[in-house]
Amino acid sequence: MGSTAAAREALDVGIIGSGTAGSAAALLLARSGHRVTLYERVPEPEPIGAGIVLQPSGLYVLARLGLAEEIIQRGAPIHRLLCQTARGRTVVDLSYASVSESFYGLGMHRGVLFQSLHAALKREPGVSLRCGVDVEALASEGPLQSVVEAGTGVRHGPHSLIIVADGARSRLRESSALATSVRTYPWGALWFVGVDPEHRFRDELYQVVDGTQRLFGLLPTGLGPEGNTQQVSLFWSIRCDQVDAWRREGLEPWKQQLLRYVPRADALLAQLEQPEQVLFSQYMDVVMRPWHTSNVVYLGDAAHAMSPQLGQGCNLALMDALVLAECISEEDSLPEALAAYDGRRRAHLGYYQFATRWLTPFFQSDYTPLGWLRDVFMGPACRLPWVGRQMVLSMCGISLGPFSPPLPVGSDTPPLLAAGA
Ligand SMILES: Cc1cc2nc3c(=O)[nH]c(=O)nc-3n(C[C@H](O)[C@H](O)[C@H](O)COP(=O)(O)OP(=O)(O)OC[C@H]3O[C@@H](n4cnc5c(N)ncnc54)[C@H](O)[C@@H]3O)c2cc1C
Repeated sequence: MGSTAAAREALDVGIIGSGTAGSAAALLLARSGHRVTLYERVPEPEPIGAGIVLQPSGLYVLARLGLAEEIIQRGAPIHRLLCQTARGRTVVDLSYASVSESFYGLGMHRGVLFQSLHAALKREPGVSLRCGVDVEALASEGPLQSVVEAGTGVRHGPHSLIIVADGARSRLRESSALATSVRTYPWGALWFVGVDPEHRFRDELYQVVDGTQRLFGLLPTGLGPEGNTQQVSLFWSIRCDQVDAWRREGLEPWKQQLLRYVPRADALLAQLEQPEQVLFSQYMDVVMRPWHTSNVVYLGDAAHAMSPQLGQGCNLALMDALVLAECISEEDSLPEALAAYDGRRRAHLGYYQFATRWLTPFFQSDYTPLGWLRDVFMGPACRLPWVGRQMVLSMCGISLGPFSPPLPVGSDTPPLLAAGA
């Protein structure tokens, strides 16, 4: 590692997008002494979104940011992933404790993560948050880069480093010269977050699969951004070209179908009165190589969006931010820091992209025989100790592949607090 690190000179960093990746990177870099301007398209960002699972990898980064405690208090501990067929056959049954007693997932509302990160940004003197700036392009000014605002053409900056973290549908990625492949899956998910005052859904992420075309997920989501009532998120797999037909059909037949799969979801489903309450997200798969030029780097979904089958998006975005901040502190120059970042993230992200692409068709696709194979072989495979351990490590967000040691976050996973446990 270098002795006269790039970070010794304070960088003037411009970050595009104040989602998970951009906000975490802003906090970490500002705390290392860099000047950070964070550009966010939305004029008044709000805590929106569905339930997500923070894994040991993401919790590790949040602990490094000093935010884990407040987030754990609002989340719902998840100790197990249980997936069964409609007939009750177990397809996946993975318990975090089988790898480490200190591991768990945290089901939570994406908005709560947003609230925590944004509150920390507002407290951070080295960060200037510029909301309502829709960035459409970057413009080189010698060795520096300015950001160009859409509509007005106004230039902001210039900055010595640009971090692009504008999400899966990144506009800046489209105009980048970096080699990129973007694929949209024909599948996506309908989702709804409701209240669960009786706390019927706790401790586990529960899924029911029926072939490869029907998947119903229920995720304990903890206390939402506003209230103090436990929430639960519902996910339903659907082909993108069937969403309009689903809306036209009305909610009743669908609710009856879900009730047959999980009768205890009745109180949750009773909260659904209009199809508009249910939102739709399409999945994308983004590959970039490399993720950087000499002074621009892509983080989070902008760099590597993937299907949420393994539930890793926010966790990978947080890890990106941490590794980038470390590389900038450790290397001699900015180009070396960005090259080191690319090298350090390649194995981790490559594994999750591979595993997600491989796994998704077994759960969401038109290939019915994959569902038969899954139902017959996956349950027994989970029970084989070595295979089960690899699956849990993958779920935890710390695997680098079955034949490499996992990322060493174990002893740093923040303990569950009494309020959240
Ligand atoms: C159905 C579904 C379920 C999921 N479940 C999970 C899960 O269980 N666990 C998990 O970890 N992840 C999950 N994810 C993925 C997760 O939501 C994303 O991976 C994560 O939010 C990525 O963070 P990001 O910062 O890269 O992008 P985002 O959070 O999308 O943030 C991008 C930001 O950039 C801003 N922006 C965009 N364009 C511009 C512009 N031109 N100028 C300025 N600002 C701009 C946006 O307004 C936004 O604030 C799921 C995703 C889906 C669709």
